[in-house]
Amino acid sequence: MAHHVYEFTEGGRDMADLLGGKGANLAEMTRMGLPVPPGFTVSTEACRAFLTTGSEPDGLFREISRHLTALEQAAGRLLGQPDDPLLLSVRSGGRFSMPGMMETILDIGLNDDSVLGLAKSSGNERFAWDSYRRLVQMFGSTVMGVDSGLFEGILARLKDMRGAADDLHLDATDLAGLVEAYKDLIHHETGEDFPQLPAEQLRRAVLAVFESWNGERARLYRRREHIPDDLGTAVNVQTMVFGNLGPDSGSGVAFTRDPATGAPGVYGDYLANAQGEDVVAGIRNTIPLDGLKDLDPTSYAQLREHMRTLETHYRDLCDIEFTIERGRLWMLQTRVGKRTAEAAFAIAAALVDEGLITADECLARVGGDGLSRLMFPRFDTLKVGEALAHGIPASPGAAVGAAVFDSAEAVRRAAAGEKVVLVRQETTPDDLPGMIAAQAVLTSRGGKTSHAAVVARGMGKVCVCGAEELGVDTGARRFSADGTTVEEGTVISVDGSEGAVYLGAAPLVDSSVMRYFETGEHSAGLVEAVSRAMNRADGVRRLGVRANADTPEDAARARRFGAEGIGLCRTEHMFLGERRQLVEAMILARTDAERERALDGLLPLQREDFVGILEAMDGLPVTIRLLDPPLHEFLPDRTELAVRLAAAEAHGNPPSAHDSELLDAVNRMHEENPMLGLRGVRLGLVAPGLVAMQVRAIAEAVVERKRAGGDPRAEIMVPLIDTVEELRLVREEVEQVLAEVSNASGVPVQCPVGTMIELPRAALTAGAIAKEAEFFSFGTNDLTQTTWGFSRDDVEAAFFSAYLDKGIFKVSPFETIDRAGVGRLVEIAIAEGRAAHPGLKVGVCGEHGGDPESVHFFHTVGLDYVSCSPFRVPVARLEAGRAAL
Ligand code: PEP
Ligand code: MG
Repeated sequence: MAHHVYEFTEGGRDMADLLGGKGANLAEMTRMGLPVPPGFTVSTEACRAFLTTGSEPDGLFREISRHLTALEQAAGRLLGQPDDPLLLSVRSGGRFSMPGMMETILDIGLNDDSVLGLAKSSGNERFAWDSYRRLVQMFGSTVMGVDSGLFEGILARLKDMRGAADDLHLDATDLAGLVEAYKDLIHHETGEDFPQLPAEQLRRAVLAVFESWNGERARLYRRREHIPDDLGTAVNVQTMVFGNLGPDSGSGVAFTRDPATGAPGVYGDYLANAQGEDVVAGIRNTIPLDGLKDLDPTSYAQLREHMRTLETHYRDLCDIEFTIERGRLWMLQTRVGKRTAEAAFAIAAALVDEGLITADECLARVGGDGLSRLMFPRFDTLKVGEALAHGIPASPGAAVGAAVFDSAEAVRRAAAGEKVVLVRQETTPDDLPGMIAAQAVLTSRGGKTSHAAVVARGMGKVCVCGAEELGVDTGARRFSADGTTVEEGTVISVDGSEGAVYLGAAPLVDSSVMRYFETGEHSAGLVEAVSRAMNRADGVRRLGVRANADTPEDAARARRFGAEGIGLCRTEHMFLGERRQLVEAMILARTDAERERALDGLLPLQREDFVGILEAMDGLPVTIRLLDPPLHEFLPDRTELAVRLAAAEAHGNPPSAHDSELLDAVNRMHEENPMLGLRGVRLGLVAPGLVAMQVRAIAEAVVERKRAGGDPRAEIMVPLIDTVEELRLVREEVEQVLAEVSNASGVPVQCPVGTMIELPRAALTAGAIAKEAEFFSFGTNDLTQTTWGFSRDDVEAAFFSAYLDKGIFKVSPFETIDRAGVGRLVEIAIAEGRAAHPGLKVGVCGEHGGDPESVHFFHTVGLDYVSCSPFRVPVARLEAGRAAL
């Protein structure tokens, strides 16, 4: 029979697939001898079986019963025993952390009898009734499906009647009355009674946790975090310990280092006389963890000791949830903690210095997504003026947006293109869509471990929480602070690094990491940690990194960022602006002489551009692509032109000869599908003189640079070929012009000629094409467009969100390379290209060249280099290094 249930003593941290992260780490702590309340874990396998068949796996509850009996024997009391009940918590815990997204049920085992036993055994009647009412409420909403707002409503009415500010002001009799009211509510809503049998409570709670894997917010969270939908959750069943037994009890969260900056020290929040849920929910304001030193020095010292043990054991930042029950410390959870990008770099570098990890492990623990976040600007603290309010800097970065007060409004405005900041007293998992839509999240309650803080950090979203000075009035859609009232729609600025909120749009400054890449300016701390990771990556990577750059400025920046050349210089930008006239003249030319005049006008302008770029990249390869886009892009819009001419004619102004000609040309060149029309190599083959002019400009620029003592390394790249014949024809023309310029100048000009592979046919006939090419560069933007049949300009807005919702793909194939389809074409083309042409150089210059996951793919399939926008160059370097580990 399958084995579905594991004692904490049986598992370990390497069993997270089966036991979930939480279960695996509870087992690890148990085996390390830390004080963990005893329990067992129901495996993710059991959950998957339940979710596929809709019924509990064979023998599951017999197995759970056996483990329960063992737990009861060790505890010396039975689940729900009337005079002294053993109580259990039932918690979800998947392979990847999904904070607050699935269900938890506490105090299983309480019923009308055992509540009295608990009152006696704890000596605290109020506590017993409070625990019971929590169970009935949680069970009623989570397991039995009663709207949780109805329970809240009853509680709020009772508090009103008693004039109680919070739950602590309700006494045992009030709470006993509340239990009765809750039970009536459940009966009224479901026609069923709250189950009194502890075993039934346990069974139904386990199944409800399984089901919560497919709850709406869990699914939304997984989609956003790219967590697969088919993993399922484990269920941890654990002996309850109580942080709400009085002032010598409490619950807290601790980090072994600061998860925001990585700085060593004691970080965390503590709440006396409270359960763990109260800390995370941000319902009451917590105290900083080091305040526990005064409240309970013994537990504090033990906790510090356990924190050190855990960090050394896991060799990483750990976050910890703990409870103190009447002066006794219990460890309820640990895991390698989430952290900001800044902390990831700082901690990894610090752990190398402490001898806990190697430089390669350090590199493995940082990433390109984090690095790119650190390259974003922050607010200029000298210019922002007085802050409106201060809170806890929970997730760093700077964001500006209109204040909104609920999730739906955030989603609505963001969909209309507005930048928003979600302002709440505290967030709950129901606010997730709004948090995703917002630039930043601002709350007036809760600590660094509140829901808002944890979720925002995970998303890399700016967050300030616990800004107590804010009077947030969600109903009236405004907040007040420092005598100012801020209505919905007012622009505010949120500084997640400093924990400050400003009225208006605060001015931004570049990041220190960006400055380091721009100028090499080195400083201790974060920049030092980043530069060490970059050096390691450069030391181990096999992939070269080039940039896509079209101007001398971009080329120079790319070089400062570490680019080893230009992988794609798109020349079409050089044909815009005032040069457009010349292109128009070239298109409209009726005679060879007219066309040559237009091309002659363009030649010196292009040459100058190339000189600047070759100078900026002196000594490094510069791959210049021949003109790619459809010619009609250089002509006026067809409809606009027709309307203008018709209107003029109606006013008695017949069109000029030029205008008529222009309209004819525009009509002639109109295409329904321009991206599949006259562009790329096709253009060079049908517009006489166009290739020759461009090649001449390149060759003359090379001559000029050589004469100036430079080392220009231009390469000529032909776009969008389908067949080797196209390449052969263009190549003949290119070589002829290169020879002419060499002869005329007396300076030998040799430029390797290669091609882009961006159509499936080219990929599939790469062997033949490679015989005519000195290099390949995959244009994965067009290759994705043509392989999927997705218009790259339209589909993302049109239907990608529906496709992502339906799980057809987890990420846009324009963002991360589709390995199975587009990637397969890449692999075929590399293999056949290299077989036909040993030593063929192969790179990629589509957007995927700067996407972390795609970089790993390009490493694996053996490309020589990736090329991406200058700002992504550091990201690509880092990821190329990580891919090589
Ligand atoms: C590509 O198609 O991937 C490419 C780099 O060319 P462009 O984006 O200019 O079409
Ligand atoms: Mg392309």
